Amino acid sequence: MCPYTKKFRIAAGPLNGKLIQMPNSTNLFARAQTVIPGGVNSPVRAFKGVGGTPIFIHKGNGPHLFDVNGNQYIDYVGSWGPLILGHAHPVVIEAIQEAIHRGLGFGAPTEIEVEMAEFITKVMPSIEQIRMVNSGTEAGQSAIRLARGYTQRNKILKFNGCYHGHSDSLLMKGGSGLLTFGIPDSPGVPEEFVRQTLIAPFNDIEAVRTIFKEFGHEIAGVIVEPIAANMNCVLPLPSFLSQLRAICDRYQSLLIFDEVITGFRVGLGGAQALYEVTPDLTCLGKIIGGGLPVGAFGGRREIMEFLSPKGPVYQAGTLSGNPIALTAGLTTLKLLKQLNPYEELAEKTLEFTQELKVLGELYGIPLFAQSVGSLFGIYFTERDSITCYEHVADCNIDQFKQFFHGMLQKGIYLAPSAFEVGFISTAHTNSILDSTLETVERVFKIGLKKNFSELDLLTRNNIF
Ligand SMILES: *Cc1c(COP(=O)(O)O)cnc(C)c1O
Repeated sequence: MCPYTKKFRIAAGPLNGKLIQMPNSTNLFARAQTVIPGGVNSPVRAFKGVGGTPIFIHKGNGPHLFDVNGNQYIDYVGSWGPLILGHAHPVVIEAIQEAIHRGLGFGAPTEIEVEMAEFITKVMPSIEQIRMVNSGTEAGQSAIRLARGYTQRNKILKFNGCYHGHSDSLLMKGGSGLLTFGIPDSPGVPEEFVRQTLIAPFNDIEAVRTIFKEFGHEIAGVIVEPIAANMNCVLPLPSFLSQLRAICDRYQSLLIFDEVITGFRVGLGGAQALYEVTPDLTCLGKIIGGGLPVGAFGGRREIMEFLSPKGPVYQAGTLSGNPIALTAGLTTLKLLKQLNPYEELAEKTLEFTQELKVLGELYGIPLFAQSVGSLFGIYFTERDSITCYEHVADCNIDQFKQFFHGMLQKGIYLAPSAFEVGFISTAHTNSILDSTLETVERVFKIGLKKNFSELDLLTRNNIF
């Protein structure tokens, strides 16, 4: 146990019935709420989806997180996807340490940008040219601007429940009915933008056909998460993606795969290699930054050459291609190529979800679970398949909340929302996964009725 952990474990414990005020999650969150909207820099972190107080992280190591109270957790979030090698992988950390001595960035070309582009274009052949940005949001926003500029059309088709970052044109959700314009997911998104974004249910190729019949020649592109991993974990039905490809070809619209999560997660070639469907443009992020802020978009050369300075579509970034961020990213990608952990990760993750289902059955808790690669989804539902947003939305969210808090109190950190996917890293050994399943069993044994979220951090410490 590190001295920090020891100090805080003692300091945060009850002393003559009183809690000594040290920087713990509860008082950090109170301070944060005064100076940061909602106390967080990205909404899901605030635990609104599950209730209670977010834990503030002190450090991560391999599969583990340590909070500022000194509690240790097995982490199934992995910084929302980037950390496929676990926290603070020594090879990645060493590469960054070596790179920082040469300076933190120059706003001028560097060799590592060329290496990164060469690496990605080699393992993802649909990408002939690529441009680096600083987030997945930027990648999505830039890809659709490029699609619009290239096709000289304005409309974009996206799918209900898919997330492509928070840019105006993409922050839409489906309304009711089959054929629909999006409705803004946020005030501040102008109606004019909404009219340019069409929405279809995920996996509903007939809805796509109907929309294309009416608007096909106005649609610049279809943007889709080939595996929907922002509404928990929803796999494409067989041939959904290839049929999208065919429709786009017929109407000369671009097919844009948002592989910000799936890129380098389900295999080196991403979901496009897994399902053997070739998009025109691909968005990347998360893993390609190895934990630092990196995004990218790339695709067919003739489309990418429409970008400034070669072409007319403007796109830029002061910190784009930052050498430290790319060092973290490229080191991660090279390690993935060298280790080729994908088959083992997929097997482990599949087994994990199967065991979860067995435990659900054993304790009479209706539960469905599924996985692809090292992504997994857990759903409290009687259903035995989950194929669209509506299926996820009508799961038992209250049971998820109880499950989440029960697991958290026993040292397992799951994403704090029933709509988020789970991530397993190469640092999640079989014994880590087994001990997680044992914890699931302990929580199921207690049952999901007890209101775990009412227990405070002090109680949580005592449970360990
Ligand atoms: C996370 C994510 C984004 C947005 O990336 P940020 O880096 O958070 O801006 C876009 N698309 C998908 C599929 C994502 O999962």
